[in-house]
Amino acid sequence: MLKSIAFGATNQGNAMSYRLYHRATQLCPDCLKESLYARLLWDSPMSRICPIHRCNLINKCPQCQQLINWSRPGVAKCQCGFDFRHSLTTAANDAQVNFSLYLYGNFGQVECLNAIKAVYKPDNPVFHLSLNQFSRFSRFLEAYVRVYWRHQRCLALSKIVFTEFDSELEALSKDELVFEFFQDWKNNFKKLLRWHESNLQPRSSQSTTVSSMVDFLVKLSNYFPVRCSISILLENYLMNFLSRYHFDQTEIIWTNSAKMRSIAFKLKEVQCWLPQMAQTWNDIELNLARLIIASQEVRYLFPSELYPTGVMILRNPEPQILRLKLNLCFH
Ligand SMILES: [Zn+2]
Ligand SMILES: [Zn+2]
Repeated sequence: MLKSIAFGATNQGNAMSYRLYHRATQLCPDCLKESLYARLLWDSPMSRICPIHRCNLINKCPQCQQLINWSRPGVAKCQCGFDFRHSLTTAANDAQVNFSLYLYGNFGQVECLNAIKAVYKPDNPVFHLSLNQFSRFSRFLEAYVRVYWRHQRCLALSKIVFTEFDSELEALSKDELVFEFFQDWKNNFKKLLRWHESNLQPRSSQSTTVSSMVDFLVKLSNYFPVRCSISILLENYLMNFLSRYHFDQTEIIWTNSAKMRSIAFKLKEVQCWLPQMAQTWNDIELNLARLIIASQEVRYLFPSELYPTGVMILRNPEPQILRLKLNLCFH
């Protein structure tokens, strides 16, 4: 019966309840005091906090210590007879409350969305992302952190990226940490990029540094729409990075009717040239990062006696490849 109360209003009800039926549930005792029904968002796997009462949701009965079960005698009643409305709650910190406001806002709770927009400023790019796009990016950033964990650099990264890293932040979930990252997104993205670049430089050859930095920038920018302010920041970083390594030329090579064709242009001209390319690709939104993603091979010719400036060669960029790779991130 509880199941139907909680999911009556959602389209995905059946699929979600099947999954949730097998796990314990959680609840906010203070919400139950106000109104006796199970809230839909208590069962989102991302949800740990009640943003209205700024407290942790409980998933265990304080009396019998059992996990709270779906098949209990009443919304507020445990199998042991305990009334959950008498449970004590523990306060959540600001970062946790902020993320839960964003989460509830994404599920149509307008007051929550307005409250978090007041804290993060309405033009924050995180509000242009769907919850799906946000969690994909969150997973990417987590995977990235994990790679460096193995190199015992995790703490250093966290300290740099998540500026106020301390024992309290350490307790945050991955999504809460990444959401916190967006609060000062401009500085945090710049710090992340600078950190990545400075870690590459001392131990890699010039060509490895260039290829892995470009790869990293392109991967990051794949998570955001082209017009999003994060994409613009990443695109500028990419341009500056390439010009710092004296890559002033870009050449695109492709085959057309079994003939090799190529076009070369100055990197500075790329912004004028991309709209033309986008048009022939049925108006896909393009930037340099996406053009690189769409290429089947990327090569770098470093400045030498033969080439006064570096050349980035993009072989066979294709709209199908771009669509495929974007679909992986923008599902
Ligand atoms: Zn509550
Ligand atoms: Zn109990």
